Amino acid sequence: LEYARSVVQVKKSSKVPPSSPSGAATAGGELALISRIRSKSQTANPSVVLGIGDDCALLRPAPGEELAITTDFSLENVHFRRDWHSPESVGHRCLARGLSDLAAMGARPIAAFLSLALPAELTTSQAGQPVWIDRFLDQLLTLAERMGVQLAGGDTAQSPRLKGSDGLVAADIVLIGGAKRGRALLRSGAKAGDIIYVTGALGGSAAELLALERNPKSDAETHPTATEHPHLFPEPRIEAGLVLAAKRLATGAIDVSDGLSTDLRHLCEESGLAAEIEASAIPIHAMAQQAEESGWGPSALDLALHGGEDYELLFTAPPSKKIPTHIGGLPIQAIGRMRASDAGEPVITILALDGSRQELEAKGWEHFR
Ligand SMILES: [Mg+2]
Repeated sequence: LEYARSVVQVKKSSKVPPSSPSGAATAGGELALISRIRSKSQTANPSVVLGIGDDCALLRPAPGEELAITTDFSLENVHFRRDWHSPESVGHRCLARGLSDLAAMGARPIAAFLSLALPAELTTSQAGQPVWIDRFLDQLLTLAERMGVQLAGGDTAQSPRLKGSDGLVAADIVLIGGAKRGRALLRSGAKAGDIIYVTGALGGSAAELLALERNPKSDAETHPTATEHPHLFPEPRIEAGLVLAAKRLATGAIDVSDGLSTDLRHLCEESGLAAEIEASAIPIHAMAQQAEESGWGPSALDLALHGGEDYELLFTAPPSKKIPTHIGGLPIQAIGRMRASDAGEPVITILALDGSRQELEAKGWEHFR
């Protein structure tokens, strides 16, 4: 296998060719791609002393900060499908997943490092159409700009063809954030008796994914509007995480990436506790409601409990702590309470809509099953 590899090490002083969606692409090659990435990355974060161009980036967190680091794969046919997800959506989601982890820690975004393996045809212009990788990058960098995170390095490679089929897209992103020392929000911080809260509404992402599965949309129909596309363009809750950490509102936190039933279990396990939630209190996204009403989807409550990738924040706080009705522009909803775990008792119980008390099993949505 010929596996072209080139570290992002265009000299800092070297001239970067102007970004050209088709021209630079057809010139091809790793260096051209790296130059394009570099010329497109305009966001500067004050904690990035040295970005793309040298062997390493140099970061300088603010005094009293510690670094929060997270890494996420975006693999074709695992995390996205090229026939369902526009390149803009893939780029946005690639960065949003890592940002959501920073949000869950109450960290401010600093830098991102992107490693990409791509089939050659996605870096070249096809019949005058915009190049896949340019559309991917432009949307990723649009979100980066909005969140103040600097693309500070990475790597590119051509993915190998396998038995005559095209290669697949694989993106690995590393996100670095800064949190005040000792103040990062942890999954392990919840206490028995704490109230469980969630930001925003749940189930929208799974509902939109089901809709895509039934009726894949054309590129033109998927515009990056967070409120309308909870699956294609999820909004990481950075501001809410920063407020929770800065005001010391939360004892524990996690982002809802795998589904409420699964992520709440993670929080319970890390805190050594159990939880009880109320079905009637779960904030349900309008798209989940629509999916239920249209009759082809699971119930809206099931989508909200088990549908993943909502990227809302789940956090705990003692009953004595006054929690605002909105944080970072998002409604905050109390959904239950943490309690001591008893051997033989379920980790999570739910007060169902019919008034019965049931065990809530962790069954986060499995995409593309
Ligand atoms: Mg997470």
